[in-house]
Amino acid sequence: MDIDQTKDRIRQLYLADTIPWVVGWSGGKDSTVTLQLVWEVLDELPREQRHKTIHVISTDTGVEQPLVAAWAEHGLKQMTAVAGDKGLPFKTHRLHPEIKDSFWVNLIGRGYGAPQRAFRWCTNREKVRPANTFIQTVTAQHGESIVVLGTRKAESANRKRTMERYEQKRIREWLSPNGSLGNSWVFSPIEDWEHEDVWEYLLSVPNPWGRDNRDLFNLYRDGSPDQECPVVLEVTVKTPSCGQSRFGCWTCTVVTTDRSLSAMVANDPENAWMAPLVAFRDTLAASVHDRTMRDFRRQDGQIKLYNGRPNLGPYTKSTRERFLRDLLEMQAALRESAPPAFRDWTLISDDEIREIRRIWVEDKHEWDDRVPAIWAETRGTPYPYMNDIRPTGFGAEEWALLDEVCGGDQLFREMQATLLDLTMNRNGLFRGTNLDAVAQAIRRSFYRNEEDAVAFAKQREQFLGTISDDDIVDDAPPVEPLRPQQLQLTF
Ligand code: SF4
Repeated sequence: MDIDQTKDRIRQLYLADTIPWVVGWSGGKDSTVTLQLVWEVLDELPREQRHKTIHVISTDTGVEQPLVAAWAEHGLKQMTAVAGDKGLPFKTHRLHPEIKDSFWVNLIGRGYGAPQRAFRWCTNREKVRPANTFIQTVTAQHGESIVVLGTRKAESANRKRTMERYEQKRIREWLSPNGSLGNSWVFSPIEDWEHEDVWEYLLSVPNPWGRDNRDLFNLYRDGSPDQECPVVLEVTVKTPSCGQSRFGCWTCTVVTTDRSLSAMVANDPENAWMAPLVAFRDTLAASVHDRTMRDFRRQDGQIKLYNGRPNLGPYTKSTRERFLRDLLEMQAALRESAPPAFRDWTLISDDEIREIRRIWVEDKHEWDDRVPAIWAETRGTPYPYMNDIRPTGFGAEEWALLDEVCGGDQLFREMQATLLDLTMNRNGLFRGTNLDAVAQAIRRSFYRNEEDAVAFAKQREQFLGTISDDDIVDDAPPVEPLRPQQLQLTF
């Protein structure tokens, strides 16, 4: 690596036009080097040549590892203060996913299974969308934007291939087209730097906004299983969760074993307060394949068979309630056990809890309305947002009664609860707009049980010619012809 050459490149591009720059800063080593180099170049320019604003964006997914999130938050505050004092045109932005996209709203509210490689629903929602929305706004205001990233070809063979592919499409030197956004260009000043170059620079050049890069080094070291030196470690360890980031979300189940959070806990007694987070993350990881915790139907009620068994669907009502309770209990416990700086750490925000309640009651028709009760039991205070939702007139008592009347048949209870809710809320069962919802409610839950549903799905697949007779196992219960409800559902 040649630092002067890299800085020259940054200087030339900055001075070449008036297109605003957006620097992506995760708080990790590569984005810190990149921002630090840009900062130094701007600092060295005469004031009159600092003609355009540089936006520094950093995304808080809401489930960041606490130490990493604190590092990023303090860093942004320091940048704002120092840039203000020195008259540097940096503007910092902490970005957040929309509430509807938040990790907990999807996992606990909608019941999405904890992320896996094959079903990684989180990266786009939690990280990509907030950044893209910001870049789109800047692009819309100025016609174009340049996104400055700390991506390096040496990160992985895959990364190298992708970067080289976009390089072929360059129409200006050093600017690759942004793969997902029009009129936006990507500049990667350290694209050819090796891993060791990054640490060498960080540990030899003081951080210009007043952080100590040795703290970042220690964060990486403590997040490795045997406190290995990060300079050596990352040459062999790849991070398959979110690629660029050495530290993913504390909830990440895409990695088989969470290395960094559990390593931080194991490596430093001061981090022991985060042990419950590791345990909760392990529970999430175990829930991925646990059939007792997940529905046998997909989100839309369909049954998709794989090797004769239904693919796992969303988390059941009781699992979602358990997760919310565990999370709120953990939040309460942290207020006692965490170091003072983390006592008020928010594991789940009030806005997320309100949206989860809305989804449970309005979308899932769970009018026993469990959120206020779980809140009161775990926080010891009455739920303060009762008026968010129009009351149906029914509650936990009626839910228990319905359960009793349905003889513990959960599918039948679910169907009746949904139909009651649709009737109560919509003022007339058979008004046109309700018919689809009524049909959907019956389609979802007319089975006697999972076995019955599987038999029905096999019969359906057989009918559609997607499986042979051999796929129907002998011990499957006899399949009845289509039931009256189904026959009527064409309306
Ligand atoms: S770190 Fe893991 S949980 Fe977080 S967005 Fe990436 S894949 Fe999803």
